[in-house]
Amino acid sequence: MKALKIKEVLEINTTNEFYTVQGWVRTFRANRFVALNDGSTIENLQCVIDFESIDESLLKQINTGAALRLKGTLVESQGGGQKVELQVKKVILLGASDPERYPIQPKKHSLEFLREKAHLRVRTSTFSAVMRVRSALSFAVHEFFQQEGFFHVHTPIVTGSDAEGAGEMFRVSTLDPKNPPLTKTGDIDYKSDFFGKETNLTVSGQLEAEAYAMGLGEVYTFGPTFRAENSNTTRHLAEFWMIEPEMAFYDLDDNMNLAEKFITTVLKKVLSRCEKDLAFLDERYTKEESSKPLIERSPMGLLEKINFVVRNEFKRVSYSEAYEILRNSKPNKKKKFQFPINEWGVDLQSEHERFLVEKHFNCPVILYDYPANIKAFYMRRNDDNKTVRAMDILFPGIGEIVGGSQREERLEVLEKRIKEMEIDKEELWWYLDLRRFGSVPHSGFGLGFERLVQFTTGMNNIRDVIPFPRTPQNAAF
Ligand code: ATP
Ligand code: MN
Repeated sequence: MKALKIKEVLEINTTNEFYTVQGWVRTFRANRFVALNDGSTIENLQCVIDFESIDESLLKQINTGAALRLKGTLVESQGGGQKVELQVKKVILLGASDPERYPIQPKKHSLEFLREKAHLRVRTSTFSAVMRVRSALSFAVHEFFQQEGFFHVHTPIVTGSDAEGAGEMFRVSTLDPKNPPLTKTGDIDYKSDFFGKETNLTVSGQLEAEAYAMGLGEVYTFGPTFRAENSNTTRHLAEFWMIEPEMAFYDLDDNMNLAEKFITTVLKKVLSRCEKDLAFLDERYTKEESSKPLIERSPMGLLEKINFVVRNEFKRVSYSEAYEILRNSKPNKKKKFQFPINEWGVDLQSEHERFLVEKHFNCPVILYDYPANIKAFYMRRNDDNKTVRAMDILFPGIGEIVGGSQREERLEVLEKRIKEMEIDKEELWWYLDLRRFGSVPHSGFGLGFERLVQFTTGMNNIRDVIPFPRTPQNAAF
């Protein structure tokens, strides 16, 4: 008989039927009660072992972490706490687990401890809930874009251009680091490297996505992204997943509208599809928050926060307006900001973004029309000649979740900017071609998938929302 998933078993209303289930032992009480979990749901199935039907040696092997196949009758539960339970008639031990050495004991472990056990942490309620929500979000992302008529494009992971300039890059090379071939002048001779040139892991699929938008209209990428920046924060990974839509014929307003609709749509989907996991994470979040000092506590619960974002419009504010708000703000006047706001044109730090989102507006904020000097070369120049059509979406507790812009579609303006910023024009020949042949206004943005998972699950550290995090000094597993 085919085994059923525990999620399926728990949805069955007819009792007294015979079923097979399999999973891992979460707890074993009183030599009788196994809480079995197979990852299909946050809930365990209570399985009651009949002492008569099992021999002593097998009983000894039922330990936390062991894998079992259990056959028995589903009955209405005698005790409280669950609707049904399985009266086990047959126990098959699939994989024993040494209780002395299995690190995931049925008690609260710290997230730091579990990070060291990243291969086993998905067997906890918290991590399995986070990863199921992550999966549901990923599906909702594809679903949203496909329903909107976008095409999914796979942009390259190994890239030959350093033009995006989003951060430090990881080199891809097959040269022997101990004995690299040298040119006459003593530099490393990349001509004899695998690709015949210097190559890196991509920091963004944007430029290539733009090329595809100029033929397919509306496209998106959803792939791994690599940044060798030494930022040990709770919001940065060296390897993360980024969603990058790119749309022909969109101006910045269309871009902001799409981004807002995208985020609220995927959140709504996950609210209805991950009810149990989110209820669990909501409770967890409330407990975590209550252990923080009062001023650091989030004024809302997790579900409350998600619902708030879904129901309320994002506040749209230009950089210049935000600059005035910040300049006149209490923390600025009292010199409480580490980076004082005293000159138009300064880049906003996370302390400023948090002030705007968490103190001043109390909702997600879209900042737009940034000073050209703090933004990338490809952003469309405004008529004021000092700002560009950029937009960042800032979220409570997360900071920047989206960075996007209307792209500069005018060849001369783009060439001038490339020159000013001393970027290698030769590298960008194909990107400039897009402005030579049928150039149109177009826009796009990048959303860091893990930051969205962080927001949705209420996990404080980005390392806890990706299965095996890569950060400076850490690529274990
Ligand atoms: P930040 O200021 O937070 O470092 P950024 O300006 O470098 O972000 P972009 O280059 O605009 O970010 O990238 C687009 C999106 O990718 C960001 O809005 C963010 O959601 C995400 N992102 C950027 N860097 C990282 C990272 N190191 N780890 C995880 N997500 C990231
Ligand atoms: Mn960055």
